[in-house]
Amino acid sequence: MIKAIRGTRDILPPESGAFQYVETLAREVFRVFNFDEIRTPIFESAELFARSVGTETDIVSKEMYTFADRDETTLALRPEATASVVRAFIELQMSQEPGLKRFYYIGPMFRRERPQKGRYRQFYQIGAEVLGGDHPAIDAEVIEMVVEYLNRLGIRPFSLLLNSIGDSKCRPNFVKALKAAAGEVRDKLCENCQRRLETNPLRVLDCKVESCQPYINRFPSILEYLCADCQAHFSELRGLLDARGIAYQITPRMVRGLDYYTRTTFEITSDLLGAQNSLLGGGRYDGLSESIGGPPVKGIGFAIGLDRFVMVLTQIRPELGMDRPQVYVAWLGTKTLSKAYELTRMLRRAGVRCAIEFDEMKLKKALSNADRLKAAFVLIVGEDEIAKNKFGLKDMKGGSQVFLEERELVTRIQGAREGSAVPA
Ligand code: AMP
Repeated sequence: MIKAIRGTRDILPPESGAFQYVETLAREVFRVFNFDEIRTPIFESAELFARSVGTETDIVSKEMYTFADRDETTLALRPEATASVVRAFIELQMSQEPGLKRFYYIGPMFRRERPQKGRYRQFYQIGAEVLGGDHPAIDAEVIEMVVEYLNRLGIRPFSLLLNSIGDSKCRPNFVKALKAAAGEVRDKLCENCQRRLETNPLRVLDCKVESCQPYINRFPSILEYLCADCQAHFSELRGLLDARGIAYQITPRMVRGLDYYTRTTFEITSDLLGAQNSLLGGGRYDGLSESIGGPPVKGIGFAIGLDRFVMVLTQIRPELGMDRPQVYVAWLGTKTLSKAYELTRMLRRAGVRCAIEFDEMKLKKALSNADRLKAAFVLIVGEDEIAKNKFGLKDMKGGSQVFLEERELVTRIQGAREGSAVPA
């Protein structure tokens, strides 16, 4: 038996319906913020991620699906999409065009992590990026957009964690201070922290190991090391968020897992999620373009974990993604099939979701099938009905039945969808 690869899964209804809902709403919300969709390739040169996400990150060093193409170039399934968007921006010379570029993307990402609830090897992200500027108002707008999206989805409660991790001017001083402080208690820290202290010291702040916490809590805070420019940027951003009534918690320990971040970083978490409580993460990446050989391009973005969103949403709204047939067309006797099919086509053209089966069956069997499919109505097409041009429409919830002419069917069924029950 051939099985799906560990960490991948088939997404079926109603979950696939919930995915569609979440995606459609993202498109709607992002559209009014003037974002357009970008579709980048699912595989790229592995070097793109090594140089942007960073070779010392878990994502690149341990989790990336890398493989040799037949011409020996090393390719990778994308573990994230920001690097691709920035690559496209540079390659297609979008900086030549005036103004900011605002893009969003929706699609699968690949990371070879240890699978668990809410963590997969193929997972889905919705992300957005603004390229070409570093005004704090851009950061505020991006955060506002994602908060607006969560509100529209009805995800509550959530926490917005906010931090600034400085830039290439001030961060090295902090890293030095952090290394010194951590160096003093080196033996007390977990193995991972000890290794990170050498390879990627900022990530020590991310450590979740219980015994490390008392030490990490005493390490210096990045916010005390920000240079004047970074400080001004961060305080302006906070002011703009305050003005919009967006609540946040300053979290100086939040440095995020990717190397390319500068200044603003943010994350939204929800207790509804359990252990993997991060719903989305984002931040500014003013140095990313240069790290992949491009001109200086300022940017900020975020990526939402779609799988986790759907998990949370289906807990709050269990009916989400359920889309059952509005009408089950029951035909009685072979002579009625062609008329039944004609009615089906008429209803479908009017946008009504119709189910029809092609095996002849008795009304009782048809009704039980309709019940199993959770159809709202059964349309009964028998020889009598055809002769009288009056078709039985049975409301499966209330159980009542009315007889309607062909031309009355659509209005009656559509009307019921708006919430009014079929009168007896
Ligand atoms: P990142 O690109 O690491 O900043 O992650 C952004 C978001 O993607 C996270 O907040 C998660 O919601 C989601 N995510 C990351 N890795 C996985 C995974 N392996 N499985 C499911 N969701 C993930």
